[in-house]
Amino acid sequence: MLKRHSLDAVIIGAGVVGAACAYYAARAGLAVAVVDRGAVAGGTTGAGEGNLLVSDKEAGPELDLALLSTRLWTELAAVLPPAIEYEPKGGLVVAPDDATVRALRSFAEGQRKAGVDAVEVPADALQELEPHLAPGLAGGFHYPQDAQVQPAQAAARLLAASGAEVYLGEEVTGVLLDRGAVRGVRTPRRELLAPAVVNAAGTWGGRIAELAGVTLPVLPRRGFVLVTEPLPRLVRHKVYAADYIADVASGSAALQSSAVVEGTPSGPVLIGATRERVGFDRSLSTEALRRLAAQAAALFPVLADVRVLRTYHGFRPYLPDHLPAIGPDPRRPGLLHACGHEGAGIGLAPATGALITAALTGAEPPLPQAPFHPARFDQDPAR
Ligand SMILES: Cc1cc2nc3c(=O)[nH]c(=O)nc-3n(C[C@H](O)[C@H](O)[C@H](O)COP(=O)(O)OP(=O)(O)OC[C@H]3O[C@@H](n4cnc5c(N)ncnc54)[C@H](O)[C@@H]3O)c2cc1C
Repeated sequence: MLKRHSLDAVIIGAGVVGAACAYYAARAGLAVAVVDRGAVAGGTTGAGEGNLLVSDKEAGPELDLALLSTRLWTELAAVLPPAIEYEPKGGLVVAPDDATVRALRSFAEGQRKAGVDAVEVPADALQELEPHLAPGLAGGFHYPQDAQVQPAQAAARLLAASGAEVYLGEEVTGVLLDRGAVRGVRTPRRELLAPAVVNAAGTWGGRIAELAGVTLPVLPRRGFVLVTEPLPRLVRHKVYAADYIADVASGSAALQSSAVVEGTPSGPVLIGATRERVGFDRSLSTEALRRLAAQAAALFPVLADVRVLRTYHGFRPYLPDHLPAIGPDPRRPGLLHACGHEGAGIGLAPATGALITAALTGAEPPLPQAPFHPARFDQDPAR
């Protein structure tokens, strides 16, 4: 068995979160290795849409993480190749009636205090922003900070730019321990020894925690996306109806769907995404697809006659309070978690990488880590 010493950290998972952790850790001068049982972005990252949203987050720790990430994505867009398709296109949240406009207004008020730009758009100005939007809407809010990346490219380019050692096609089958502390990982081919191991295994983060002898209740939350035939740029922003915000925040296991519609530089319109907790069930749900298509056509009637070329699905890494687990695990010295970002992991990846790097180097964290504490689900009152 090969043994690799002299690493500062091993990161499990080559999704966007693991890649961002590798990028910021390497920039801080750490020697890191990234190991994944599959390909780069072969997990949920390759099934995500790439929305970088502040608009759907209420004031609180997740929004703070999103705002930091928004700033970091802008910096990354300036140094990573254009292939990441960063587009600061802005979001538009629309309301069907006056009561919803009022609810959005109070939601935006809280967001503004946290640093979000939220601009109310009266009903008669909606078409100036989105000429093909359905008539009859009561108003909306424009969020200029919402943006977009191509998630698989973003992960691949972050990882390449990190210069980290990368081991693909190697499953972590064991977490090495020495006197109760983590000392590296084992794959069928080698042992990678390091004083810190970062669990960036996304939806499978609970299994890695288990290998290290601790618990983390990460569950899959399935989502479908529809991809249309290439079209001229009909949809300029990320556009969604206000009830999407409630869907995101809900902990229900039942099928929820509220379409987010957006054009892409290459032409297809992306329509995502449903949410439901059905384990790792990969079967096609025509009900989910039907709902998405109907909601998208209700927002943009022009889409009713457009062909859908394909659909895909993925499993969001869900934690019961909708916040990721980020930071050192006090139950297992040397173990850090960076997983459980649910439907926002692409957006939140850079800030997660920055927080993990601060924990690895002992630097001042850019944000308070307490809300993301990995042992917060423990019933142990001694914690
Ligand atoms: C339909 C859908 C739409 C979405 N849209 C958006 C969006 O618009 N914006 C947004 O921000 N987020 C979105 N998300 C969520 C986002 O995709 C995830 O939060 C994010 O990709 C999680 O990234 P990750 O790196 O944590 O996990 P992953 O990308 O899943 O990476 C984890 C990696 O760990 C590896 N791994 C697991 N176990 C092991 C092991 N034992 N050994 C080695 N490797 C292992 C896996 O192979 C995988 O590559 C969406 C998700 C879905 C399903």
